[in-house]
Amino acid sequence: MNSPKTAILWIRRDLRLHDNQALLHSLNFQQVVPCFIWEDTPSTEWRMGAASKWWLHHSLHAFQQSLKKLGSDLVLVKGTPEKKLVELAQHYGASSILWNRSYNPQEAPTIQALMRAAGQQGLEVIACQGNLLCEKSALLKDDGNPYKVYTAFWRKFIKVYTPTCQAKPTQLPALPQAPYTKTATLADLNLLPDIPWDAGFNEYWHPGEEHALTKMRTFLKQGVLRYKSDRDQPHLAGTSMLSPHLQFGEIHPQRILQHIVDTFGPLGQLTDPNIIQFTKEVLWREFSYHLLQHFPHTPNQPLVKAFQHFPYQKNKVWFKAWTKGQTGYPIVDAGMRQLWHTGWMHNRVRMITASFLIKHLGVHWLEGAKWFWDTLVDADLASNTQGWQWTAGCGADAAPFFRIFNPITQGEKFDPQGLYAARWCPELRHLPAKWIYKPWEAPSHELKKAGIHLGTDYPYPIVDHKESRERALSQYEEIKK
Ligand SMILES: Cc1cc2nc3c(=O)[nH]c(=O)nc-3n(C[C@H](O)[C@H](O)[C@H](O)COP(=O)(O)OP(=O)(O)OC[C@H]3O[C@@H](n4cnc5c(N)ncnc54)[C@H](O)[C@@H]3O)c2cc1C
Repeated sequence: MNSPKTAILWIRRDLRLHDNQALLHSLNFQQVVPCFIWEDTPSTEWRMGAASKWWLHHSLHAFQQSLKKLGSDLVLVKGTPEKKLVELAQHYGASSILWNRSYNPQEAPTIQALMRAAGQQGLEVIACQGNLLCEKSALLKDDGNPYKVYTAFWRKFIKVYTPTCQAKPTQLPALPQAPYTKTATLADLNLLPDIPWDAGFNEYWHPGEEHALTKMRTFLKQGVLRYKSDRDQPHLAGTSMLSPHLQFGEIHPQRILQHIVDTFGPLGQLTDPNIIQFTKEVLWREFSYHLLQHFPHTPNQPLVKAFQHFPYQKNKVWFKAWTKGQTGYPIVDAGMRQLWHTGWMHNRVRMITASFLIKHLGVHWLEGAKWFWDTLVDADLASNTQGWQWTAGCGADAAPFFRIFNPITQGEKFDPQGLYAARWCPELRHLPAKWIYKPWEAPSHELKKAGIHLGTDYPYPIVDHKESRERALSQYEEIKK
């Protein structure tokens, strides 16, 4: 009797059953071993941050349960992926290793090592389309070069793309007998933080595919219809909050676009400005990956070379004040505290806090990118790099350097009632909206009435807005020479 055809299915950030090409491909085998490999100290420079690990822990749990319901399981293993995958294949007598591509150039050495190791053992390797809508080669300019301007990228995208969603399987091939003994438990992976700073995360998030799909459906039925105006108001729940689900592959962006097409019509013929805006934002993620793949040095180096010599400064005291939400500018402090408490920050406030660190405090964008990397549950190398470089003025299609977000008027404009500041800086909550984004200008009787003693209950601004702005602009003039 022939031995059953067996495959190892390597799961990474594709923790879903729907639209999972490698999983679907694995149905061609009689036995399949879905496995997740955790490397404690991977050689990649941008190792998973603490908040992302929290998400991963819960997402792995949810995915393991989903696989079990379909007759399979998720085998957890600790070690180096290329070694462990080949070891698993040998243990189970598998002929093939399957996975979905990650599009993160930092993971290329692992893939190369895996291909070599598998080749030496005569194993077949099958890499399928991962969490992007289009492969790298499908979206190039007519002259074969990558896009650096978003609008042109978007125009090309809607011409070439058609969503093709795939339903989830109803049953999965069983795991082979003869269990592999070197498996780990979820607790062995040690993904949860040692200090319990994640209490707020539990209040805000429900990792897992089922929650991702429900959130998408609810948002595309209600929230999206006000997206164009609500998305900029940080005190409202005006955006989808799908970013961590997308980042861990709990939902494929294809499914979001398919839902949009089914409900509102073909992408090229959308008329509602809210739907168009939301679709364009989803495509910013794709554009970020386009840039990361074509310019793999950008997580550490500016895309615009002139910025390599920008005279950033190191200031540990200011940087700490920024991370702790103690700069004395309530919109910045509210954002940084929201990030610490929930692992997420509103997009407009990400731009304001990033601009403040780079331009008001003169600190290198990379320092901020690293802090976000550790504290965001949606930390994504492509979008984080792109977001920081956009704000710093050194990325593709970036905000010009001289666009310095005003940390007072931004709060007043996008949250005129001061609700966001009051929510995240509760010491200011009794201050009238007129003063909440500039408490140092409030008359002393208003501060007294609100129970605030500046310098004790809430800090004075650590830098002067006007002076910092002028200093940043003069430094910019220097690098232009
Ligand atoms: C300094 C800075 C750092 C950032 N770091 C990250 C990061 O690490 N991970 C991350 O996913 N996003 C990052 N962003 C982009 C953006 O802030 C988040 O994607 C967005 O706030 C997520 O909330 P949402 O899911 O409610 O977005 P929605 O407004 O509902 O948008 C839907 C989806 O579109 C994508 N998207 C929206 N805006 C952007 C954008 N500007 N760039 C790329 N994709 C976008 C996201 O996948 C998002 O989930 C960063 C932005 C800045 C300015």
